[in-house]
Amino acid sequence: MSTDIMHEIKTSSSDATYAIGERLGSLSKGGECFVLSSDLGGGKTTFTKGLAKGLGISGPVTSPTFTVNRTYQGDSGLTLSHFDFYRLDDPGVVGHELAEVEADPLMVTVIEWANIVRDVLPEDCIHIQIDRTADGEDERIIRMQVPTQRAYLLEGLE
Ligand code: ADP
Ligand code: MG
Repeated sequence: MSTDIMHEIKTSSSDATYAIGERLGSLSKGGECFVLSSDLGGGKTTFTKGLAKGLGISGPVTSPTFTVNRTYQGDSGLTLSHFDFYRLDDPGVVGHELAEVEADPLMVTVIEWANIVRDVLPEDCIHIQIDRTADGEDERIIRMQVPTQRAYLLEGLE
């Protein structure tokens, strides 16, 4: 039985999507796993850049499409591990890396194109679906599915 909390936010700019990521980053305590889904260009990496900012990561965050995984150390003492499985058919050795970072309580994990690792994800991942809308090029609807044990991430939101 699912007791996840569903929360929806609309954004009208990449800055607004970045700001949502930043907010979630600053509310993160470590151990969170964010699973991002959208079409190409939906805003997953934009969201992740905001999340990194919220974790106190000052350097540039670039899409790990070619390297599959990039790790960044934040000022907050938390580390961001960003995975992108877009180019892989099989998680291979990166699947083991993923399992390792997920076991680390000081790690915040973000996964783009998580289909191939779907079966090995922790149960308490935060699932974030970003969809374009018919309202305009920069409009997005962000649907968050937050396990109750991660409800602190929604603090202060309507
Ligand atoms: P993905 O990682 O999902 O492929 P990116 O974050 O790399 O997507 O790219 C999203 C693109 O869409 C960027 O060029 C960004 O500027 C643009 N964009 C326009 N409106 C929005 C919005 N509301 N939220 C996020 N990105 C937006
Ligand atoms: Mg991306």
